[in-house]
Amino acid sequence: MSGKVTLVGSGPGSIGLLAPRGREAIEAAEVVLYDQLPGEEIIAVLPQHAELIDCGKYGGDHTLEQDEIEALMIDRARAGKNVVRLKGGDSFLFGRGGEEMESLRAAGIEVAVVPGITSAIAVPEAVGIPVTHRRFASQVTVITGHEDPTKGESALDWRLLGQSRGTIVVLMGVKNLPQIAAALVENGRSPKTPVAIIERGMRPDQRVTVGTLGDIAGIARAQSVRPPAVIVIGDVVSLYDGTTLFRP
Ligand code: SAH
Repeated sequence: MSGKVTLVGSGPGSIGLLAPRGREAIEAAEVVLYDQLPGEEIIAVLPQHAELIDCGKYGGDHTLEQDEIEALMIDRARAGKNVVRLKGGDSFLFGRGGEEMESLRAAGIEVAVVPGITSAIAVPEAVGIPVTHRRFASQVTVITGHEDPTKGESALDWRLLGQSRGTIVVLMGVKNLPQIAAALVENGRSPKTPVAIIERGMRPDQRVTVGTLGDIAGIARAQSVRPPAVIVIGDVVSLYDGTTLFRP
């Protein structure tokens, strides 16, 4: 009998924000494949009786390659095991959960999902930045900052992003922040547009750095901003007042 794989989103890293359903799935698992992004607090509760596989995937440092991760999941499920694949935030938002679902389907393995709270919305929220607001933004676009907009063919439409008046949330964007800010300004966004960078959101050592599209790259460099961080661009950032509304 074949086992199954449950894709569990851990939320942004605080144990209280991992859904009870996700916690149950983890407790019942015989094998857990996890990334570093869920954070220590969540990794600490992984069941010691299970086979724990550290996939180490974080910001490009791959302990295991994506195809190796998928092969391991398939192997363990075929051996009849109850497998959990644990990822930060939500598995289907820049988490490659969609690709993993496809591979599992192709291998004929049953897949279940437990949605997670995505960092794209929750991390700004925790510091009092709503990604939409009737006065400031009626649309929000979540983009990957993984690709350098000045290099090669972009999967992102920078012209459209530059012209949008909505909020832009950038994940995985710390490294390419200078190019991203420049591309938005070149395509029409005002250099005065407020920007907030929230590092290690909803964790005890969270830090917020603010600026504008015109000066944020320099500020981030001076402050040694590091991943993981969520970057929020748009007038909603003007609501940031330094208070933290969520305590881990
Ligand atoms: N699936 C995840 C995103 C994976 S991409 C989700 O839904 O949240 C990894 C990126 O997510 C990081 O580079 C960072 O931009 C963001 N991220 C995830 N958790 C974060 C946290 N607690 N604080 C800041 N950024 C976080």
